[in-house]
Amino acid sequence: MGLTVSGEFDFIDWLRAQQTPSDLVQLGAGDDLAVLRWASEDLLIVGVDQVLDGVHFDSTVHTPRQIGRKVMNRNLSDCAAMACLPAAAVATVALPKGSSIEFAKELYLGLRDAADPFDCAIVGGDTATWTGHLVLTVTILGRSAGVAPITRGRAKVGDGIYVTGPLGGSILGRHMTFEPRVLLGRQLGESGLVTSMIDISDGLSRDLSHICEESRVGAILQESQVPIHDDARKLSERDGVHPLLHALNDGEDHELLFTASSEPNLDASLLQPIRIGTITDGNKMYLDRGGNRLMLIEPRGWEHSL
Ligand SMILES: [Mg+2]
Repeated sequence: MGLTVSGEFDFIDWLRAQQTPSDLVQLGAGDDLAVLRWASEDLLIVGVDQVLDGVHFDSTVHTPRQIGRKVMNRNLSDCAAMACLPAAAVATVALPKGSSIEFAKELYLGLRDAADPFDCAIVGGDTATWTGHLVLTVTILGRSAGVAPITRGRAKVGDGIYVTGPLGGSILGRHMTFEPRVLLGRQLGESGLVTSMIDISDGLSRDLSHICEESRVGAILQESQVPIHDDARKLSERDGVHPLLHALNDGEDHELLFTASSEPNLDASLLQPIRIGTITDGNKMYLDRGGNRLMLIEPRGWEHSL
């Protein structure tokens, strides 16, 4: 399957010409499969993420370049959450019938915009057209490069809970433009102090519940410490929902949420994490105000719909 036969081959020629040399890539896109040189001591850390028109973006509003950037950045953010280095990626795109080659090129250039700063080579992909909406999928290959992957499963009672930036209201635009915290995630992994980590894709309440479930612990968040993004306040003026609830429940901030036995010392050039609470025993999450439990936090993540 392809765009049109002649169009597809033009596109493949163009894609081949876009590839930049990389130590990792022995054979890039163009053959049946790519061939990568993988250091024997490296763990391969692999994941996949897709974006759907009408769910994760709106093709009547967002440009193909923005859409390509977003799906790659979602994958890079998962690398950040595992403290691994992005190494390579493959992509598939299901294009609505009648899409132009220019449109497909812009999607690819969006992928590259996001991947290039991390030397993450795009080593293959598949393009097809169909009668449905635009779907774009990226599979990412990360490598451990000397740092053990950080999972969701090792938070301990007494650990601090931290986030790497203000939360809420990403739907006003940041869900398309966030920056994956790859270098920060890497430093956090290197610190040896981080016990669990996740990137906030579904929302603080839901992503924290993933850590609590996997680690079999509970959590208390301090109401006054949860950083609220200006977008959450703006959205609150429109919809009447308290900004704190936006910070707790909105998705796609893609800040890192992690637990640590003590506060990691990071390069001053990086964002400094904000402590928002403490891991407890039990299996519940509470919001605390001045030592009093204000409310039980239910995992109410974003339901992935624009
Ligand atoms: Mg994630």
